Amino acid sequence: MTVQQLKPAEIRHEALRIAGEKVYRDEVIEVTYPYTGEVVATVPKATLEDVRRAYRIARDYKPTLTRYERYRILMRAGEIIASRLDEISRLITLESGLSRKDTLYEVGRASDVLLFAANQALVDDGQVFSCDLTHHGKSRKVYTTKEPLLGVITAITPFNHPLNQVIHKVAPAVATNNRMVLKPSEKTPLSAYVLADILYEAGLPPEMLSIVTGDPREIADEMLTHPDVDLVTFTGGVAIGKYIAGKSVYKRQILELGGNDPIIVMEDADVEEAATLAASGSYKNSGQRCTAVKRMLVHEKVADQFVELLVAKTQALKYGDPMDPHTDMGTVIDEPAARHFEQVVDEAIAGGARLLAGHVRRGALYAPTVLDQVRPEMTVVKHETFGPVSPVIRFKDIDEAIRISNGTAYGLSSSVCTNRLDYITRFVRELNVGSVNVREVPGYRLELTPFGGIKDSGLGYKEGVQEAMKSFCNTKTYSLPW
Ligand code: NAD
Repeated sequence: MTVQQLKPAEIRHEALRIAGEKVYRDEVIEVTYPYTGEVVATVPKATLEDVRRAYRIARDYKPTLTRYERYRILMRAGEIIASRLDEISRLITLESGLSRKDTLYEVGRASDVLLFAANQALVDDGQVFSCDLTHHGKSRKVYTTKEPLLGVITAITPFNHPLNQVIHKVAPAVATNNRMVLKPSEKTPLSAYVLADILYEAGLPPEMLSIVTGDPREIADEMLTHPDVDLVTFTGGVAIGKYIAGKSVYKRQILELGGNDPIIVMEDADVEEAATLAASGSYKNSGQRCTAVKRMLVHEKVADQFVELLVAKTQALKYGDPMDPHTDMGTVIDEPAARHFEQVVDEAIAGGARLLAGHVRRGALYAPTVLDQVRPEMTVVKHETFGPVSPVIRFKDIDEAIRISNGTAYGLSSSVCTNRLDYITRFVRELNVGSVNVREVPGYRLELTPFGGIKDSGLGYKEGVQEAMKSFCNTKTYSLPW
């Protein structure tokens, strides 16, 4: 059934999950399907008292799950998600406008996160230090052990991967016996509620996870400053990330912010492979990934060939109805976002860039767009363009490529297409980013591996299941005389 056939009775009316309790509120936020603009659900606007109650319950609860119990809950949640793959993918498509291809992929990633978190829950990463290492040493040992935080974790997530962003915060919290209050994006709040119910069903004590939705202007400050909060983990844009950095005083902060990732194509590259990586890196998830390819830096010797291939791959992409299983790319999050891309692309064209494909908009649907002859100072590449735009910048040599690449405020990830070890060595050393992927898209990673950026993209603390679990713990040491 398509969304056009949904009857009003089928509009989903969600409740807050305060420690598992469903709480409805008269004041709601409407969730719309970006492709048609129809309202598909409502979520409550939490009051300040709702938020405070969630923290109170979390603070007063002391989790006692064994490693095996945490493993079982996470694995069971993974099984439930796998059995509801199609339904959850449809829901994410409804709230985000992402194509079914993208949302099926996203639900698969969520299962990976649960699998890794479950397995990491079984791993004791304690250390042992012998103390007789120096002349004034003693015959003792220092042991380390990880403990959950004393207080509560606040998690705030963006719209672009409605389920995966949420699960990357919740699963490591469960794996480490922490309590979390999470606020998903008000644009895509539905899958967070589904995930919470799945975890409760899998056996998670409900006090360990509350989900609240609301107007950030009303409830965000409470979530950032509440005395029972020990750590704020945030994924989203730079502006709000920096606001949190200033607001959440004396609380640990994990800030995963925007990106402006390049793909750098050297003259020795396999140009066909590079164009394929560039197109998929630019258009997957409608270009709305922090690690999407947002700038294409191409050596002038291969630029003509690269651009020709990129245009062909862009035109071969099927975009449109997100529910059609053959559609590669659905809408972006909303019409204002699509209008913004239109405007920065217009500005680039006025400044001398050449439009080679796309740049057609209908509502929140924006065609995959190729721009050649882009200059580094143009808005479309100077700032993060969080949509399906492929701006090509030509360069002469590796020095210029590195200079352009490092010339924005961001430092999240990167892709380099070359087989030359001298080039690769320089890119790994000199690109000011969190990741360098050789002959892969910037977004390539395992859900387990360290991930995160520097400069305006983050403070250098990483996410990925393993790193998130580390940062959600206190390390206690104790020493024994043997
Ligand atoms: P956003 O910054 O607008 O919103 C993110 C979240 O912050 C939402 O839940 C929103 O309700 C909340 N929020 C709004 N005002 C707040 C306030 N005053 N205090 C606290 N929270 C507040 O981001 P978005 O538009 O949802 O997502 C897109 C951005 O996220 C892009 O910049 C993208 O690059 C970035 N992102 C980064 C990563 C990463 O891992 N580095 C991953 C995905 C997305």
